[in-house]
Amino acid sequence: MPRLVMKFGGTSVATIDRIRNVARHVIRERKAGYDIAVVVSAMSGKTNELVGWCQEAASFYDPAEYDAVVASGEQVTAGLLAIVLRDLGLPARSWQGWQVPILTSDAHASARITSIDGTNLINGFSERGEIAVVTGFQGIHAPTGRITTLGRGGSDTSAVAVAAAIGAERCDIYTDVDGVYTTDPRVVPKARRLDKIAFEEMLEMASLGAKVLQVRSVELAMLHRVKTFVRSSFDDPESPKPGTLICDEEDIVEQQVVTGIAFQRDEAQITLRRVADHPGVAAAIFVPLAEANINVDMIIQVASDDHATDITFTVPGTDFERAKQVLTKAQPQIGFTNLQGTADMVKVSAIGVGMRSHAGVAARAFKALSDKGINIRAITTSEIKFSILIEAPYTELAVRTLHTLYGLDQP
Ligand code: ADP
Ligand code: ASP
Ligand code: MG
Repeated sequence: MPRLVMKFGGTSVATIDRIRNVARHVIRERKAGYDIAVVVSAMSGKTNELVGWCQEAASFYDPAEYDAVVASGEQVTAGLLAIVLRDLGLPARSWQGWQVPILTSDAHASARITSIDGTNLINGFSERGEIAVVTGFQGIHAPTGRITTLGRGGSDTSAVAVAAAIGAERCDIYTDVDGVYTTDPRVVPKARRLDKIAFEEMLEMASLGAKVLQVRSVELAMLHRVKTFVRSSFDDPESPKPGTLICDEEDIVEQQVVTGIAFQRDEAQITLRRVADHPGVAAAIFVPLAEANINVDMIIQVASDDHATDITFTVPGTDFERAKQVLTKAQPQIGFTNLQGTADMVKVSAIGVGMRSHAGVAARAFKALSDKGINIRAITTSEIKFSILIEAPYTELAVRTLHTLYGLDQP
């Protein structure tokens, strides 16, 4: 029988009633003749609650114990869905990450899947006709035998990885929206659902803030050629809509210049004034930040005068205080005179493979944003995207302005 992976996110399994609704989707596909591995997230809000408990327990905690705590959310939903499926007369069992096994690196709280042996799941299909209900988000680091988790939103990645491991015909990611939109439909009501989006564009959208898919899941889908759809669990299980297919660029007939707008809230901007302009200074700034595991994003260095220059860059808001401490400690090596920082910034990005062949796409945005009185604090561009940094209160206005500018609004 062909195989299928169906992944259900937190809001789709938020209550027992919704878990019953998930079971109806599973039954439909079972009737259509598939062997099925279902991958589930924790009930909505659960992971946040578990993270909060860890933080309440101690300000510094062992990330391995954090993983032991937060992985429990998925264990509950996997068991509950198996119970509901069996109650409806279907053979089903739950599988935790370590039981599959889903092997990962030892980077607790942001582990990467290194391999999945699909044999146990496949034997369950062929020997017992069993539906496998697999916990998303979690795995095991075999050498230490410890439970790991894959970072927030990681169940998407579990699903695509399981699909690759069992050779599934398709991986359906069910969520609370009916596909990938031109931008977050909760922020722009005029956002349009896309029938298809190219892997490269989805990768950029996800890494630039569209949390509908975890970045790593898109990378894996692209690498292992997993046919992945994003679709709604709130559709009627009897007449579901297909959702959005993540596919090769060549498979998209009507290509726009800009496909989507993404935004990342809670960025912080740091400026170092009067940094000496000689070799080794960039290293003196960015090596200590990297060693402290702080991700630096947009970097701007102004032309120097008098052998001194200003350097501006962004870091995630959650790392802002730590970044300032690291830089202050490294001041003797860097030699800046003044450190200025602004929290509560937002990065807004426009993405589209069509940008490769069109000039002046970003320039149009700068004009449209200035017409609205929005001040741009930093800009970066690459082949298929550009990003601007603005102050948080302008987020919605900027996203809507760009969405309209590039012809993405619903008619
Ligand atoms: P799940 O719990 O099912 O994994 P998530 O909350 O992680 O769901 O992702 C779905 C959410 O992603 C949607 O509710 C939507 O608000 C948000 N989102 C952000 N950008 C987009 C986009 N471009 N298209 C669709 N949804 C988006
Ligand atoms: N439950 C985890 C989270 O909230 C993983 C997921 O839902 O994908 O991040
Ligand atoms: Mg998610």
